[in-house]
Amino acid sequence: MVEETPWGLRNVGVPHYEQFLHPVIKKNYGKWAYHEHVKPGVIKHVAESGDVLYTIRVGLPKYVSTQTVRELCDIADKYSQGYIKFTSRHSATFFATDEETVDKIIQEVESKGFPVGGTDHSLKSIINCVGWTHCHTAATDSPSIAKALYEALYDYFKSYDKLPERLKIAVSGCLNMCGATHASDIAIIGVHRKAPRVIDEDVKAFCSVPALVKICPKYAIRPKKGDPRSVEIDEEKCMYCGICYGECPGLPIHDPKNDGVSIWVGGKVPSTKKGPMNSRLVIPYLPNNPPHWPEVVDAVKKIVDFYVKYAEPDERLGETIERIGWEKFFKLTGIPFTDKHIDDYVFSYMEFRKGVTFKHT
Ligand code: SF4
Ligand code: SF4
Repeated sequence: MVEETPWGLRNVGVPHYEQFLHPVIKKNYGKWAYHEHVKPGVIKHVAESGDVLYTIRVGLPKYVSTQTVRELCDIADKYSQGYIKFTSRHSATFFATDEETVDKIIQEVESKGFPVGGTDHSLKSIINCVGWTHCHTAATDSPSIAKALYEALYDYFKSYDKLPERLKIAVSGCLNMCGATHASDIAIIGVHRKAPRVIDEDVKAFCSVPALVKICPKYAIRPKKGDPRSVEIDEEKCMYCGICYGECPGLPIHDPKNDGVSIWVGGKVPSTKKGPMNSRLVIPYLPNNPPHWPEVVDAVKKIVDFYVKYAEPDERLGETIERIGWEKFFKLTGIPFTDKHIDDYVFSYMEFRKGVTFKHT
């Protein structure tokens, strides 16, 4: 935002959000009486003043071209008084003050191939990180997995009453979790399973050995015996995080044979009911199998089927599992419990279930 300061006109940060609010929102800010879900993707908001505003949610892919953004803005100019909101879950929201305009917006965006949905008890837009396309630490192709999952679960996005509560799915290409996977009901996270390779010539040409020794969170990197201008990695200590590859192109971690994905469940952000929850590992490894990712899709469908069948109304996936017990979750989904599920992180004892009671089925 450009503002007059004692030093002249200066850019002083992001513009105040208020100037971007739709006029009906601005007028009734903080004075809303209620809202209702009138159809998939459409929420009717009613203000204490009697004003009505419909919001229409449209699913978008992670990447959209400038041309697509222009097309969406044209629709906003035509029906939405020039207002459009892009959400952090890869959706766009349009605004309308009457039902006729709602239908026109839905018709126009769907004619361009963008589905309207993702509100109330539905599958929200699947979010994903950039994956292989832009990131050097990715162990998988996050956007491609998100697309395969969308295709399998599309009906849940287009409906608003087939799920017990909202369902959030996210895909991250590696354990850095840029796709908000720690707090999603179902998370797909790329995993490396081998320590980085060391290319001595590249380490010597491009990298600082002290910086590499310092950057490893597990102290697994040390100067190479007999050749201290390069490094060696203690594979016992390495946790395959890929941080050293970001520092040095001489330590590539990609491994087409061993890289793959893990599946985690039960994360959520809201403070309702059980409060915020972190997702937990349920499947330690599935192979990378593009373009349709059958193993990942089957596993996620199995978990969603479990959720639909066993959750109580208004219960998130993690809450259902906590209620019936993790033993029963593994049994009902048929997912094997292995030694990989036991968390050996030094501070993880805080999270351990300390009671002696097991919920046997
Ligand atoms: S989660 Fe990993 S692969 Fe995805 S963008 Fe972040 S660092 Fe890159
Ligand atoms: S991948 Fe991570 S843990 Fe392994 S050597 Fe590199 S920085 Fe250390």
